[in-house]
Amino acid sequence: MRKKTVLKLVCFVAVMSASPVFAVSPDDSGKPEIAVDIDEGKPSFIHRNRGVPCTGGANHTVGCTRVFFYAELGGAEMTPAGGIKNIRLQIGLRNVEVELSSDLKKKTCLFDAVLKHELTHLALHRRVLKRFAPEIAKAVLSVAENQPPPFHKQFDKISKVLKEYVERMMKEDERQNALMDSNDAYRYQQKQCERK
Ligand SMILES: [Zn+2]
Repeated sequence: MRKKTVLKLVCFVAVMSASPVFAVSPDDSGKPEIAVDIDEGKPSFIHRNRGVPCTGGANHTVGCTRVFFYAELGGAEMTPAGGIKNIRLQIGLRNVEVELSSDLKKKTCLFDAVLKHELTHLALHRRVLKRFAPEIAKAVLSVAENQPPPFHKQFDKISKVLKEYVERMMKEDERQNALMDSNDAYRYQQKQCERK
């Protein structure tokens, strides 16, 4: 089954002097720089419930992979003139859960088949994330270069860009995962197990 993707954007307080992630350093008159941390998420494995609720998933009720996409501004360094000197982004998946029904017993063909299917979903989520990351970085960098101070205006614009990209990632992710389910690999694997 597919996943539940939920928009997650964490806001931070745009008060530079009060925030430890911001620093002001001498203006070297260079262009802003960007660093991106990609967080692939640490999946928790759940195998204790019979029912496996899965929002927006396909019709298989014995497995589910849930992820939350996020894109956040992790910090920035400003020039004395108020320009952005460098910026750090955090793009990733959090609250990653792979759940299998307790009806599936470990070391059975079906358990392995469903687990494999769910891990393929997880790999797809991560691929979408990594595919979008350079594009997100480029878009944020463009804002950093072109939007003049004050910082709250730069911040608003960057937040808007990140929000749009999280939505785009989720849409693409949903499309790709639905495609994966529609090719019926899951039922094929199940049938293979029934024959054994
Ligand atoms: Zn599936």
